[in-house]
Amino acid sequence: MPENSAQSLPSYLSPDNPGPWGNYLEQVDRVAPYLGSLAKWVETLKRPHRTLIVDVPVELDDGTIAHFEGYRVQHNIARGPGKGGVRFHPQVTLSEVMALSAWMSVKTAAVNVPFGGAKGGIRVDPHQHSPREIERITRRYINEIGMIIGPNTDIPAPDVNTNAQIMAWMMDTYAMNTGITQPGVVTGKPISLGGSLGRVEATGRGVFVVASEAMKDAGIEVSGARVAIQGCGNVGGTAAQLFHENGAKVIAIQDHTGVIYQDSGLDIPKVLAHAQETGGVADFTPADTLTPEEFWALETEVLIPAALEEQITVDNANQIRTKILVEGANGPTTPKADDMLTDNGVIIVPDVIANAGGVSVSYFEWVQNFSSFFWTIEEINERLEAIMREAYRSISATAKEHKVSLRTAAFITACSRILEAREVRGLYP
Ligand code: NAD
Repeated sequence: MPENSAQSLPSYLSPDNPGPWGNYLEQVDRVAPYLGSLAKWVETLKRPHRTLIVDVPVELDDGTIAHFEGYRVQHNIARGPGKGGVRFHPQVTLSEVMALSAWMSVKTAAVNVPFGGAKGGIRVDPHQHSPREIERITRRYINEIGMIIGPNTDIPAPDVNTNAQIMAWMMDTYAMNTGITQPGVVTGKPISLGGSLGRVEATGRGVFVVASEAMKDAGIEVSGARVAIQGCGNVGGTAAQLFHENGAKVIAIQDHTGVIYQDSGLDIPKVLAHAQETGGVADFTPADTLTPEEFWALETEVLIPAALEEQITVDNANQIRTKILVEGANGPTTPKADDMLTDNGVIIVPDVIANAGGVSVSYFEWVQNFSSFFWTIEEINERLEAIMREAYRSISATAKEHKVSLRTAAFITACSRILEAREVRGLYP
């Protein structure tokens, strides 16, 4: 880690193993030289505004008591309320939630929606718990972080292993504690509770829209393009479906159960139905299986990591043979792997714009909740596509102007917007 980043490492993270937060700090260091006079505020970006760690004690179905560690981090709220999902995963760490919250600040600023950045997580393996236990874990967690969330302060949403039902429990818990039903306290809710049409598919749709723009720039047709995707959940599954519908060949999908491969292109609707029914893509027929190493080395036009962070590292970056890497997941590529891929001529469409479709429709959901007036799916998809195309075009123009990567360009645009807001607001007191 560069020395200037190490200095701003919070005392509660180990300098020897700063985790994803260390990757984020490196990304900020890379952008600092382009921030002009705003660079004097850059330390703001390197420290989360507020970090909350909570104990989540829950009685399990068998009568025993289990304790889970929960987090909510608000990275930056200069441009608006904190916004970001809540992840349920056994390996969630504070460093990870901090980095994810920071990437939310950058993302909301990159696509210019009026939010800051936040993120939450619980160290729990949801597959080991019954729906009733998950409900109790969710409700207790929202009770514990209740003092820092709200429709005008910090708005959770779904992330890995959380869904519309969990958002409904979050909204209900907040309503029970405050005595007011405020749908705008979370986004990604069921439609019957004020959720937005198109929210479930929004992130994957946004991935498809920016991937198509990047392909246009690279002179690659979507129809017939070979696509490989890691992750077959909300983001990866929707992206797979849209590429399939638009004539691309999705030749491989990797998830936590294995890798499936079919050179002529997988039948995506059937793969999605199989994954829904069995819990993963493994054993889908007709398809071959590959090792994860073979998956990353596939020759493709587009490769989409849409699972977890730090999947593309110095260990596999040189094996990757794709033309365009579109980061559906948050933080899937480490900074060193990013350099290696760039040296190898791979175009990287960074997470902060590639997967911003979700937060864009979350913004639409929040606006609809405040006005209690709901839009059609056509209006939502049209506005989503407009936001995503505009964000990609403006970042691509910044990349050309400064002769930098799309990631650095996205960070220049986003960090400038955040720090401008910081500067005009001034420091209190
Ligand atoms: P999800 O829970 O719906 O799906 C996650 C997928 O990742 C599953 O297919 C799972 O099998 C796979 N996976 C998990 N561990 C894996 C492993 N070790 N190896 C291979 N595959 C593995 O989650 P999601 O909502 O699709 O989120 C995926 C990524 O996209 C995350 O990084 C998330 O932060 C990011 N993201 C999600 C949204 C959203 O709206 N859901 C928005 C922006 C970014």
